[in-house]
Amino acid sequence: MEELKKKAETFRRSVPHKRLKEFPEIIYKDIVKDKPHKGLSNELYVTYIIDCPRKVVLMKWLEDEGYEEVQEEYKKWYPYRGNVWDDYLSNLFENHGGHSQVSVMVIVPVTNEKGKPEDVALIRGRIDAIYKENEQWKLVDFKTANEKKLFEGTHVTDKYVAQISFYSKIMNIEEFGLFFATNAAPAYEKFTDESGVLRTYAYDKIVERAHEIYKAYKEGYLPSEKREESCNYCPFREVCHRLVSSTDPRAEVIKIVKEKLEPFGKFKKKE
Ligand code: SF4
Repeated sequence: MEELKKKAETFRRSVPHKRLKEFPEIIYKDIVKDKPHKGLSNELYVTYIIDCPRKVVLMKWLEDEGYEEVQEEYKKWYPYRGNVWDDYLSNLFENHGGHSQVSVMVIVPVTNEKGKPEDVALIRGRIDAIYKENEQWKLVDFKTANEKKLFEGTHVTDKYVAQISFYSKIMNIEEFGLFFATNAAPAYEKFTDESGVLRTYAYDKIVERAHEIYKAYKEGYLPSEKREESCNYCPFREVCHRLVSSTDPRAEVIKIVKEKLEPFGKFKKKE
């Protein structure tokens, strides 16, 4: 049984890898290649804020030290798939009078213990498309999901709803939706928030989180640990619990990366 599991794992990892290498050079180079991120130190991306505040802080500490996560080849399949899907649908909306890939930014004043503003954090995000229907603006985000999740009804996650509600609050749009490409049928999940309660709730929570994350990053403490399925895909999964008891988590995580993760090729210093 163990042997079989290992084989299945190897197969799962090797198939997309091989296929990626076989793609025409133009696609491979333009879409799959690493694009180094040159963000500002006070930028926080909305999807990461929603996913795990602790991970954002850890990643930012490491970025300051010049480290970046090494993406395994097979993982590059996912951004590739996302990019092609986003580009196709975005063009469709653009061709019909909508706007796609709309960048948004929210400035969050970061206050000191006396409540006085002393710094700013930026929340950045990108809306897949906005478009007009019956004289009303609507907003849509594109996602992918597998058939199993679609039939179980677990494809719409709280994180997705928080993200589109946040964007819709910024754009003052009442109707928004998630369009899913699945390996079964496509699905569209529509939300109408006339009162604005959902949008305001999501917006306030995300801004509050961004404030906490930025303070933790600057002051060297760790946001609380979450234990979720997505921890399984996190580069810190084996060391996350060790950081809880550390008096200086920033120094501890840098030490762990140098000693344990860098030698195994999970992180590298940026060139
Ligand atoms: S292991 Fe989980 S809790 Fe820890 S940083 Fe990663 S995602 Fe966050």
